[in-house]
Amino acid sequence: MSTIFSKIVSGEIPSYRVAESDRYYAFLDINPIAKGHTLVIPKKEVDYLFDLDEEALSGLWIFAQKTAKALQAAVPCKRIGVAVLGLEVPHAHIHLIPLNREADVDFKKPKLKLTKEEFENIAKAIAAKWEGEAN
Ligand code: 5GP
Repeated sequence: MSTIFSKIVSGEIPSYRVAESDRYYAFLDINPIAKGHTLVIPKKEVDYLFDLDEEALSGLWIFAQKTAKALQAAVPCKRIGVAVLGLEVPHAHIHLIPLNREADVDFKKPKLKLTKEEFENIAKAIAAKWEGEAN
């Protein structure tokens, strides 16, 4: 059975794409807790982040680093916060969240409601700042 994120990678389910390489994919979280909230995933379906092999895990973090830099350039903020939950979707992922204050990383607060156009514009702005080879 393939996860919802595998269906996103294959294009079966649409997503607001931020960046992509052969092995990794970054896209906007559909229920963002902050503007620019992005998920970074390995294309390979592995449930738990810390079960990835060393090479895949380090590659994912390097991909996340590049994505975080692009995100901060597109959505000015103090820091890009990182969270790993995985309680909802059994496909390893890293949350990247623009932060100005600690409360910005509260997963219990009401999610932002953005229009399709707003999602598209944010994804496009982050993608435009993405630098280097996406590997
Ligand atoms: P977690 O597994 O880390 O607890 O939560 C999964 C995250 O994936 C949530 O923040 C949720 O909003 C996001 N998510 C779940 N389904 C979809 C989807 O179909 N598309 C997108 N873009 N994000 C999703």
